Amino acid sequence: MRKTKIVATVGPASSSEEMLRNLMLAGVNVFRLNFSHGVHEDHAITAERIDRLNQALGHHTAVLADLSGPKIRTGSAGSGLTLVPGETCVITTRNEECTGNIISVNYKDFALDVKADDDILLDDGKLLLKAVSSNEKDEVVAKVIQGGTLLSHKGVNLPKTRLRLPGLSDKDLNDLRFIATLNVQWVALSFVRAASDITDLRNRLHELCGNNAPRIIAKIEKPEAVENAEAIIEAADALMVARGDLGVEIPQEQVPVIQKRLVRLCLAASKPIIVATQMMEGMISNLRPTRAEVSDVANSVIDGADALMLSGETSVGSYPVQTVETMNRIICDVEASDIQLPLVEPVESPGERRISDSVIMAASDLAQKVNARALIAMTHTGYSAFRLAGHRTKAGIYIFSDNRNLLRALNLVWGVTGIYFEKFSSTDSAMVEMRKTLIARGYITTGNYIIYVSSIPIGKPGKTNMLKLSIV
Ligand code: PEP
Repeated sequence: MRKTKIVATVGPASSSEEMLRNLMLAGVNVFRLNFSHGVHEDHAITAERIDRLNQALGHHTAVLADLSGPKIRTGSAGSGLTLVPGETCVITTRNEECTGNIISVNYKDFALDVKADDDILLDDGKLLLKAVSSNEKDEVVAKVIQGGTLLSHKGVNLPKTRLRLPGLSDKDLNDLRFIATLNVQWVALSFVRAASDITDLRNRLHELCGNNAPRIIAKIEKPEAVENAEAIIEAADALMVARGDLGVEIPQEQVPVIQKRLVRLCLAASKPIIVATQMMEGMISNLRPTRAEVSDVANSVIDGADALMLSGETSVGSYPVQTVETMNRIICDVEASDIQLPLVEPVESPGERRISDSVIMAASDLAQKVNARALIAMTHTGYSAFRLAGHRTKAGIYIFSDNRNLLRALNLVWGVTGIYFEKFSSTDSAMVEMRKTLIARGYITTGNYIIYVSSIPIGKPGKTNMLKLSIV
């Protein structure tokens, strides 16, 4: 059973019911709807298709809605304009066409925030300008350092500038109201700068969805987010190393070490982490990845990531299913090897959760000592699933719950297999039923050691206080 999960972005190449089905069968655990592209109607159709396919195939594939966040973009540029190194241009916040040496941007406080000497990167960092002066109203004069052609609506990155933009744009708020009408288990926020961005999003999701609110993924792609990583991890439910924008906002040679550091911080906090962007980029147009891409996927597994994400490969690429199959093979091969994941012990939570954390830690230690085949837990909140995964033991983690939405959310988490289960009458009878289910599905067999963690009396949420070792 593969432990590292696969997230696939849905787009024109993959949104048909047939393609979604083939991708699920190839091993996709989470589908990402990217709200930087597409219209609400199309996202709704995709989400409904995934719901239907989950029912038909008995899967718990999750849906991740990725909000654009406060992304600054240039205006329309017709057939494009040429930026020549050494020349100056004017960046305006007026709603104008980009022509000649005028570039418009959609952020009204641009000239207030950008100071002389700030770097202005356009189109994923392909073009570089340096701010010369600002009229602190609606214009910044900038010198072209690295030139080229600027097309319409390209992203603007300002790594050195402290932006006063709110964490959620008007578009994000509108998208959120729509997302609340769908079956979505995870919402990702782009360009997070501080933990307060996450708290604000959580409050809004709570207002819209109450206790069924999707969990939150903080996308780390700004230098401020790297600086504030610990607080952001504490506020969020999961993290994404969004290497595309991160590699524009900070020197790209720093990205690999930041990836490793963030994975370790998430392991210590028992929060899932996704490594994203350009993992199998070559497979957008080729049937085989490059050796470097194979190594990147393998090394991200060895770092200890919960999930690896595909973007263009599955959204617009020529070979979405083959890309997932290839990624699946690479992950399985690494996981079957004797290579060790980093040993990062989850940090015990203070207060009430300490008992649960200690029982889960003991169960995980025991699983390693007896080479257990399965760690088995019942959960209403998902807490024990996240904590068990944090220990990265060799045993499979089987989570039984009567909450299908939770089982779908847990499909992002390293090593976790979710199983729908309603028979929570007593701990003893539940353990018998769960064992029968795992045998019937071929996850465990005679002679295997298995470990249950649960709460006694059964059904008390958030209080794991029982550990039982059995032999099948
Ligand atoms: C990234 O920048 O790596 C990323 C995942 O974000 P997006 O695809 O939304 O630009």
